[in-house]
Amino acid sequence: MSIEVTPELQQQAEQVVARARQTFRSGRTKAISFRKTQLRALYRFMTEQEAAIKQALYDDLHKSDAEAQLMELDTVMSDIADHVENLDKWTKPQPTQKGMAFLLDKTEIVYEPYGVVLIIGAWNYPFQLTLWPLLGAIAAGNCAVLKPSEVAGHTSELLEKELPQYLDKDCFHVVAGDARITTALLQQRFDYIFYTGSSQVGKVVLQAAAKHITPVTLELGGKGPCIVDSDCDITVVARRILFGKFLNAGQTCIAPDYVLCDHETQDKLVEAMRAPLVEFYGKNPKESQHFGRIVNKRHFERVKKLLDSNKVVIGGETDEETLYIAPTILANVSPDDDIMKEENEVFGPLLPIVPVAGKEEAIEFVNSREKPLAMYAFSNNKQFGQDLIDQTSSGQFCFNDTLIHAAVPSLPFGGVGHSGMGAYHGKFTFETFSHKRAVMLRTMKDEWLQGKLRYPPLTPKKVAWMQRFLKKNLRDEKRSWWSMLLVLLIGAGMAFFVMTCLHM
Ligand code: NAD
Repeated sequence: MSIEVTPELQQQAEQVVARARQTFRSGRTKAISFRKTQLRALYRFMTEQEAAIKQALYDDLHKSDAEAQLMELDTVMSDIADHVENLDKWTKPQPTQKGMAFLLDKTEIVYEPYGVVLIIGAWNYPFQLTLWPLLGAIAAGNCAVLKPSEVAGHTSELLEKELPQYLDKDCFHVVAGDARITTALLQQRFDYIFYTGSSQVGKVVLQAAAKHITPVTLELGGKGPCIVDSDCDITVVARRILFGKFLNAGQTCIAPDYVLCDHETQDKLVEAMRAPLVEFYGKNPKESQHFGRIVNKRHFERVKKLLDSNKVVIGGETDEETLYIAPTILANVSPDDDIMKEENEVFGPLLPIVPVAGKEEAIEFVNSREKPLAMYAFSNNKQFGQDLIDQTSSGQFCFNDTLIHAAVPSLPFGGVGHSGMGAYHGKFTFETFSHKRAVMLRTMKDEWLQGKLRYPPLTPKKVAWMQRFLKKNLRDEKRSWWSMLLVLLIGAGMAFFVMTCLHM
C-alpha cells in the first residue's frame, strides 16, 4: 500500500503540524478554563450547525434525522457535557499509596497532555468518530489535527469549512483530503495518534507511529459473532439482533456480523425476524426513511459480491443507482463461503447465519479467528453468557442485546488484538489523551536516615535495612490467612482492653 505524496501535500502537512506545535509550546491549551471554553465551543458548533450536519449525513449515508441526532450528535454532546462537568476533578493530581519508607513524601499521578495529536476518522459515523476523540484531546489539553474520512465527503467538507469558525484556529486544524494527505500527515511527528478504520490501514498507522515511538489508539474492526442459545426468547432475540445489524445499513463497527446457532434455532430465528423487519422498515425498506444506504459504489460492489442468492432467506434486493441493499438474512452459511472467509466484517446489511452443533463448537469457531471488536450472546441461561466471557476474548461483550453497551459511559469502548488497542468514552476519553505522569515530591528532612541506609558503600547491614523498608515478600496463602487472623485477634483484644480501661 504505497501512496505517493506530492511536495505540496507534504508542505501542507508540515505547516499545519508546525503551527499546532508552536501553539502547544506556548502552554495556552493547558489552562483548564481554556479547555472548557473550547469544549463549550464544540458543543455550540453541534447545536448551531445541527441542520447542516444532519443534511451532510443524509447526503453521505441516507442517515435519518433520528439516527443522526441520537448516534452522531447526542453521543458526543453528552460526553462533552460530562467532561466539562468533571474536568476540575479529573485533572487534579491523584495521590497514590506509598509505603512506610516514604511517609514524609508526596506521590501522585499528574495528568498531562501529550502535545500535538493526530485524529484520523472513519466514514460510517463520520461526525461521531472524529469529534468524540477531538473532545478528549481538548479536555486533556492537547492541540489537534483532525483528518475526517474522505469517503463521507459532505461531512468532511462541512467539518473543514465550519468547525474552525468555532474552535481556536492555532490549536485545532481540520485537514480534508484523501489517503495521500493522511499519508503526508503520518510522515510528520505527532505526540499521539488516534485512528479509526480498517485493520489494514491500522497497520500502516502503527508503522508510521513506530518511527517516532508515538503512542496510538487504534479503533479497528473485525467480524463480531452473535451466539444464540436454543433456550432463549426468540422473538425478543430477533428484534435485538435486527436492531444492531441494520442500524446505518449494517455499517456499524460493533454490529453483529454473523449468527452462530443450531439448525433448529436458525429456522425459528429466521421466522421470528420477518415481522419485526416489516415493523421497522415497512414492506419495502427502499422507501423507508429509517433505512440507510451504502456509502459509495466501491463499498456497494464489495457488499454485493458477498450476497450469495442461494442462501438468501429474507431480502436480497439491490439497486446500484441508489446504492441500496435490502436488509438481508442468509441461512445455512458455511465457514467457507466468501461472506465468512474475509477477516473484515461484512459492513453492510447482510446477516449470515452459520449453523453449529452447540455452544462448544461456537466457542471453538470464535477462538479460531481474530479477536473481535464486539461479541454478543443470547440465552435464558446466565451460565451460557458466563461461559462465553470465560472462554473467549473480544474488545466488548454484551449478553442478551446488541450495541446498547456502547451507550454506557463507564464502559471503555475499544478492541483487542486485531480489533485494536486503547479505548475511549466517558472518563476513558480524557485519560486516553493524557499521559499519566508519575510525580514524587521528596522531603529533605530525612537525610540523616538516608545517609545511614542508601548511599555507598552498601554494607550488608544497610542492605538488610533497605529490604526491611522496601521489599515485599511473597507469603504463602495459608500463612497470610493465619497472619491476618492473628492481626484481627490482636486488634480485637486491644480494643477490648481499651474499652474495659475506659469503663473502669
Ligand atoms: P476509511 O476508508 O474512511 O479510512 C479511514 C481513514 O484512513 C481515512 O481518513 C483515510 O484517509 C485513511 N486511509 C485510508 N487508506 C489509507 C492508506 N492507505 N494510508 C493512510 N491512510 C489511509 O475507513 P475504512 O478503513 O473503510 O473504515 C471501515 C473500517 O473501520 C471497518 O473495518 C470498521 O469496523 C472500522 N471501524 C472501527 C470503528 C471502531 O470504533 N473500532 C469505528 C468505525 C469503523
